[in-house]
Amino acid sequence: MLQQDEFDLKTGAGLIACPRCDALHVEEELPEGVTAQCIRCGHVLARPRAGAFSQIIALAVTTLVLVLAAVFFPFLEISRMGFGHGTSLFGVALAFADGLLAPLVLAVLVLVIGLPAARAGLLVYTLLPLARGRKPYAHVARAFRLSEQMKPWSMAEIFIIGTGVAMVKVGGLARISFGPAFWAFVALVFVSIASRSFMCATTIWDAIEDAGAPTDGREKIEGTPGA
Ligand SMILES: [Zn+2]
Repeated sequence: MLQQDEFDLKTGAGLIACPRCDALHVEEELPEGVTAQCIRCGHVLARPRAGAFSQIIALAVTTLVLVLAAVFFPFLEISRMGFGHGTSLFGVALAFADGLLAPLVLAVLVLVIGLPAARAGLLVYTLLPLARGRKPYAHVARAFRLSEQMKPWSMAEIFIIGTGVAMVKVGGLARISFGPAFWAFVALVFVSIASRSFMCATTIWDAIEDAGAPTDGREKIEGTPGA
């Protein structure tokens, strides 16, 4: 662990680059509630908050429960002239499982359901020991890195907007009522927004490092302290 105002140009340890404009800053331990902003463009670099890890874990577990509800509860019901049909996403997936649309259904399930669930699982795996002040689990840096890489690909919000647009189109032809799974999806969108606002990747990386797991590439360069 480097001391205050120390940095290592070989590995980048102790330095922090602005993700928006690349300005390089020397990293400092921030007290809780203080925000670190880029000196050049004002982008927020770190914003540690008290109890944020427990809040993110709670939201990640909520995400897992909502994803289960979104898959297995009825998503919507279409009725016309007295005949109605309701289905869940799982039912849709089974109905198209061996047709031409199978790859599309698979992609939708992975992007809309699989990725948010996997991300929530990885966050719980990363943060659970850190929130209790214990030693992190094995491969914690890889787990958190993977969770950050999945972030742009979780598309629950886009799915809900797409469904809304499709419903407006179909609304003229038949009567549509939304099932519990639709509302679980809407809740999922709000939970993911809340989780993003609590989350500060810099603080989590710092906590992983402080707990003794190498994260800054020192483990990959021979002859440096973490190797
Ligand atoms: Zn900047």
